[in-house]
Amino acid sequence: MWSQATAALSQLWLAARCPLCDRSPAQPFCDSCWRQIQACHTATPATLEADALTVLSWGRYERPLKGAIAALKYDGHRTVADPLGRALGEWWQQHPIPTRQPPWVVPIPLHEAKQRQRGFNQAALIAAAFCRQTGLPLQANGLRRQRATLPQFGLGAAERQENVANAFAMGHWPRPQRQRPIVLLDDIYTTGTTVRAAATVLRRAGWSVCGVVTVARTQSDQ
Ligand SMILES: [Zn+2]
Repeated sequence: MWSQATAALSQLWLAARCPLCDRSPAQPFCDSCWRQIQACHTATPATLEADALTVLSWGRYERPLKGAIAALKYDGHRTVADPLGRALGEWWQQHPIPTRQPPWVVPIPLHEAKQRQRGFNQAALIAAAFCRQTGLPLQANGLRRQRATLPQFGLGAAERQENVANAFAMGHWPRPQRQRPIVLLDDIYTTGTTVRAAATVLRRAGWSVCGVVTVARTQSDQ
């Protein structure tokens, strides 16, 4: 009981301080850090990538946006997902991927063990804020990760493909409505290997996948 109360209090205290500079007040970033994050916003709207996937990314994966994503994923600052998802949603509203029907939004899932360890899936939290902003329907469990994978960072192209091969499977769709296309959502886009593997599973099940939206995108084609 006491430790729960202490944890709740420290969470409140943490929430009141900016995760990037430790100053307050923050909601969840201080004004100065949020301005600097916005300087990472890209001027490039969606681009068409391999396998007919259109990619819309809000910003460049560099500091301090990189630090903001790390604060969410590795330091447990869940509230960070809200401004990032909202900013991505506003960007979508300016540059939507054209589709005949408003698409389902499906976040890239984590493996169950990873999600248990982290306590949440950052892509699902960002997707929830993105859908609140855009009004698009969320299908949080549209995909599942059936195989644990290594982090893609630092792997070569062939290793990346092998790493995510058969990683994804269809998730739970209470009312499928296949006439709607799907847009995938992830925190970072690097080479697209992960989202292409996810799109392949959905397309094999008869869905149309129009693209992917991400908060950040790396600059190099590593
Ligand atoms: Zn700050």
